[in-house]
Amino acid sequence: MSYTNHTILSEALEKWDAELFKNVLPRVYQIILEIDNRYVAEMAGRGIDPRVIENTRIVRENQVHMAHLAVIGGHSINGVAKLHTELLKEDTLRDFYSIYPEKFNNKTNGIIQRRWLQIADEPLSAEIDKLIGKGWRSDIHELRKLLEFKDDQQVLADFYRVKQEAKARLADFIKESTGVEVSTEAIFDVQVKRLHAYKRQLLNLLHIIKLYWDLKDNTDKDMVPRVFIFGAKAAPGYHFAKSVIKLINEVANLVNKDESLQGKLKVVFLENYRVSLAELIIPAADVSEQISLASKEASGTSNMKFMMTGAITLATLDGANIEIKDEVGDDNIVIFGMDKDQVYEHYARHDYYSRGVYESNPDIRRVVDTFVNGTIPNVREEGSEIYEALITHNDEYFLLEDFHAYVEAQEKIDALYRDKEKWARMSLINIATSDKFTSDDTIEQYAKEIWNLEK
Ligand SMILES: *Cc1c(COP(=O)(O)O)cnc(C)c1O
Repeated sequence: MSYTNHTILSEALEKWDAELFKNVLPRVYQIILEIDNRYVAEMAGRGIDPRVIENTRIVRENQVHMAHLAVIGGHSINGVAKLHTELLKEDTLRDFYSIYPEKFNNKTNGIIQRRWLQIADEPLSAEIDKLIGKGWRSDIHELRKLLEFKDDQQVLADFYRVKQEAKARLADFIKESTGVEVSTEAIFDVQVKRLHAYKRQLLNLLHIIKLYWDLKDNTDKDMVPRVFIFGAKAAPGYHFAKSVIKLINEVANLVNKDESLQGKLKVVFLENYRVSLAELIIPAADVSEQISLASKEASGTSNMKFMMTGAITLATLDGANIEIKDEVGDDNIVIFGMDKDQVYEHYARHDYYSRGVYESNPDIRRVVDTFVNGTIPNVREEGSEIYEALITHNDEYFLLEDFHAYVEAQEKIDALYRDKEKWARMSLINIATSDKFTSDDTIEQYAKEIWNLEK
């Protein structure tokens, strides 16, 4: 047996009430107690510090810790990106790492190019065939041959045209499904993923509201037009997530019908986000929003799907974003915000005070106040709920701390996009190096290094 950990969010690490467990699964509970007893005896025999033994046992404080059972029962424990595996070793499972260092290993997640490139983006795939032949369809590592064309102006123009055509297909769908008209000359700035506070869709929305006020102050503001596209489902009982969805939709209503903005700002929320919709949306993205609070996103996989179809990643140093940066190089990605160490320093020092940030930054205050001052129609309850989360409940995911860095990163995106050739070169380099994230290789690593299978 082997254990792959997919998230370290505490609400996702299962702990069951021991009494409940015993009633529902009496025989399984007996077996778990036996495993727990044998574990404690073995560790005592090895001379392990009794406090460490107590912290790592399966049944403690009347709860059954499923992750502990998995670590003790498994011969291998892996995280799903380098940073995530480091966090397992040095934080979440650090006592276990001191006992069983040899069990720990990393397997960075991957995505399958047959769906996310060949099927989802046939026109781009055909363009790639023309340049390097069809060999990449059976050996994805041949994609690297595209790098030879990174300074070929004709190739860059062709790649740019393919992206524009994907944007046109998405624009048609947006018009059909929402009635909103968007221009393909605008930057298509996309955040599609489950709605969760740690993924910080709300940070994206704060920036949109900032742009709204910039344009209300000065309709001549020099900016490349933007279309912000969201897709997200909330878990049925996740009230906060539903409020964020409501807010995004009402900001969209406000912005899209305001003619004074001269079409420079559009916001679209696409319903029922799912794989078939992802296949339409992702190839049409110019910008891939991967803005989770550093340390919270174990890996992410949509970051890889966007890279493979030529979007530029706008990201925090979290999950596999770090490994994407290592592949494309610092000039072909836009990174911003606190890193994992800075986040952990705040936790250790207990020194973050969001109300202080709010009170000392007029621009942040103006944006946050927009939730409660009647500017956005029809959000009386949801607006206050979000205001409270940010100010009264101390902004658990540090949106206000990262806000200025995010605005600057967005300004960098605006500047980069104005140079179409440069943008197309960045895009090509992203596509050409995305072979690193094929799940064919990830699965092969699981087969060889964890499952001990022969081909
Ligand atoms: C890839 C994918 C995800 C995962 O997205 P992340 O941004 O990595 O969280 C979620 N939903 C769908 C439909 C996807 O295709």
